[in-house]
Amino acid sequence: MIFDRALNAAPDRFQVIQLSRYTTWEIGGPTASVVVNTPEELAETVKFLSENSLPWVILGRGSNTLAPTEGWHGVVVLLKGELAEFSFNGSLLTAGGGAHLPSMSGAACSQGLAGLVFAVGIPGTVGGAIFMNAGAYGSSISELVKEVRVLHPGGSIEYLTAEDCGFGYRSSRFQKDDSIVLGVMLGLSDKAVSSGGLRGEAREILRLRRRKFPLHAPNAGSVFRRPDNGSPPGKLIEDCGLKGYRLGGAMVSPVHANFIENTGGATSSDVMRLIELVIHRVRQASGITLKREIRKLGERI
Ligand SMILES: Cc1cc2nc3c(=O)[nH]c(=O)nc-3n(C[C@H](O)[C@H](O)[C@H](O)COP(=O)(O)OP(=O)(O)OC[C@H]3O[C@@H](n4cnc5c(N)ncnc54)[C@H](O)[C@@H]3O)c2cc1C
Repeated sequence: MIFDRALNAAPDRFQVIQLSRYTTWEIGGPTASVVVNTPEELAETVKFLSENSLPWVILGRGSNTLAPTEGWHGVVVLLKGELAEFSFNGSLLTAGGGAHLPSMSGAACSQGLAGLVFAVGIPGTVGGAIFMNAGAYGSSISELVKEVRVLHPGGSIEYLTAEDCGFGYRSSRFQKDDSIVLGVMLGLSDKAVSSGGLRGEAREILRLRRRKFPLHAPNAGSVFRRPDNGSPPGKLIEDCGLKGYRLGGAMVSPVHANFIENTGGATSSDVMRLIELVIHRVRQASGITLKREIRKLGERI
């Protein structure tokens, strides 16, 4: 295994982790991992990994990720410490790529700053949200971006505007290259409502999501993107009679058909086979080819 190579190359630096404990689907076997706390540590680590031809990937909260049950062959890099902090300066919110998005959203509400309340139930990091251009209720993170600080694998740091990030629906340029979101600056609004009003809005969003989504079971949010014609994937899947359909430990959620639940012991191959079956059935029934929103660990498109 490559992770043996990583561990042999620098035994003090890398640790073996079980990916099932680092992904919201709770699926995934062993991999080598490294925790980095500062931009300098991150740059030095990525240089080391590249020089030793060790594949690597940044993992946020694993809330949009399917990790292989047999384990991953490279090194998973986890952004912590300074890289997971956030702070406010007036209506500007500055955060490291590893910062927890719902905590940022909650803190913004408490400060009476509007704009990020939509993200209160999106259980990822802000780096993962920039990578995915995460969004909900008609808003997405790209609309708030003032600046994204990026580390290129060669070691250079670049400051990007929202326009430079190539944002689209659940997409960004980061899905096509190896650059790392070191941090972001988001512009919020201090003009809208009181902090009490914003906190109330956040509570209401969380209440609605608990009702609409299968939050009782391990899942990774919406599995499929909305197709170009705007049809909700959940409706297309439900119309094929697939709600509650099981393959191994994976099940199309009876609560919301665009979610796949791990009912206990699901493997990554159960999930992928179920995804392929759903794509096939929906195509047969409607002529629409659904595309995945969730990503396999380390995949590039
Ligand atoms: C219950 C539930 C509800 C959800 N609801 C929503 C929703 O309403 N809207 C929505 O858009 N999504 C939703 N999601 C999906 C998910 O939370 C988002 O896509 C989130 O932004 C992913 O963040 P993450 O840190 O977990 O990313 P991960 O799954 O850890 O990683 C996703 C991708 O981003 C890359 N990445 C992560 N951090 C960085 C970084 N710093 N630099 C470069 N690349 C990086 C990873 O390499 C990987 O390719 C939901 C998920 C769950 C489980």
